[in-house]
Amino acid sequence: MLIGAGVVGSSIAYHLGKRGAGKRVVVIEKNTIASGTTSAAVGGIRGQFSTEINIQFSLESMRFWKRWQDEIGLPIGFEQIGYVFLGQTADEARVFERNVALQNRMGVPSRLISKGELNELVPGIFTDDLTAIAYSPEDSRATPTDATAAYAKRAREMGVRILEGTSVTAIAVQGGKVRAVQTSQGRIETPLVVNCAGPWAGKVGELAGVDVPVKPYRREIFISEPFAELPAHIPNVIDLHVGWYCLREGAGLLMSGMKDEHSSFDVYVNWQSLATVGEFAVHRIPQLAGASWGKRAYAGLYDVSPDDHAILGPVPEVEGFLLATGFSGHGFQHSPATGRLMAELILDGHATGIDIAPLAVTRFAKGELLREPLTAHAGSMSG
Ligand SMILES: Cc1cc2nc3c(=O)[nH]c(=O)nc-3n(C[C@H](O)[C@H](O)[C@H](O)COP(=O)(O)OP(=O)(O)OC[C@H]3O[C@@H](n4cnc5c(N)ncnc54)[C@H](O)[C@@H]3O)c2cc1C
Repeated sequence: MLIGAGVVGSSIAYHLGKRGAGKRVVVIEKNTIASGTTSAAVGGIRGQFSTEINIQFSLESMRFWKRWQDEIGLPIGFEQIGYVFLGQTADEARVFERNVALQNRMGVPSRLISKGELNELVPGIFTDDLTAIAYSPEDSRATPTDATAAYAKRAREMGVRILEGTSVTAIAVQGGKVRAVQTSQGRIETPLVVNCAGPWAGKVGELAGVDVPVKPYRREIFISEPFAELPAHIPNVIDLHVGWYCLREGAGLLMSGMKDEHSSFDVYVNWQSLATVGEFAVHRIPQLAGASWGKRAYAGLYDVSPDDHAILGPVPEVEGFLLATGFSGHGFQHSPATGRLMAELILDGHATGIDIAPLAVTRFAKGELLREPLTAHAGSMSG
């Protein structure tokens, strides 16, 4: 049984179906498919990460996104838009240099570019305060809700049952093993539960008496009216130092707003924060002084683990209770690799191709935390 039909649970369901196990799989979703934090995801897909494990997930997932149309056959608006990361300190410049060397060694076509090259990609962008710029033309974007609906559709066709409008309210554990799950629609006997509840993974963990260290953090997104003062195609511009990004959204633009420093399940939009964010936006891209942002905005929840990496695999306390959560702002893009690896773990007892041992939940107690500076949680744009 899978708890949560976001992009992670739906991908696992799809990959289990592909392995012929669809009729043995039930997904329990308290609302509707893709209604959780997946509905807030911007859809960014990138190879520009700092750790080998994240880059491995990106490389495998990128191959899947590229063959999506052949394999899944439903549109998700996949587009290679490119990403530029901007650094403002000597430390950030060193991080970019190290990352690009690692990414290139592993097969990601990223490179450091000059301020002049950046100006060709984003005419007029302010560069005086930059110490380094990293660019990968292959980094991409797609639509997370469409991808999730498509995984779920194909999973259902392969026999998976997805029960929407059904909450998991209790998990029965006896003798250290999962025995059953109580839902708002009745009890289901099962020896295996995968917690793919995104920002709610901690709460689902509590139902089994397991500490799952995933916390929700609110993040705002603002979308502008149509804006013609920049080219129709610009890369996603990510200012790592402040944790701000801006990219095309149709004829308009999308930019990140403030992120909370304290964990909560709040998803309100604080329109007053637009003044602060707008001021930085105009500093970085002066033409944005002419953009109109006042109408469309929303907030979503980052699903953050203590080291900004996913938590995958079993927990030591309860047999049959698996985790696939804590993606810390990159769960959409890594969903293809996650789905395949979790399907193997469930059906074969081990995953192949990528060593997922570093993502075990036990790393926190052992103090073996990973370090990923290029994460959605980075930067000072917090309130
Ligand atoms: C503003 C923002 C921008 C982002 N941009 C990107 C991006 O560009 N690229 C990227 O890769 N990622 C991005 N992310 C992160 C991405 O959204 C998440 O990592 C990903 O969607 C996690 O998917 P999930 O399936 O684990 O979680 P969810 O989509 O939250 O799915 C979990 C599901 O579990 C269900 N559930 C919870 N509790 C229960 C229960 N008790 N019973 C039954 N069901 C339950 C929920 O209803 C929910 O549908 C962004 C996130 C935010 C907030």
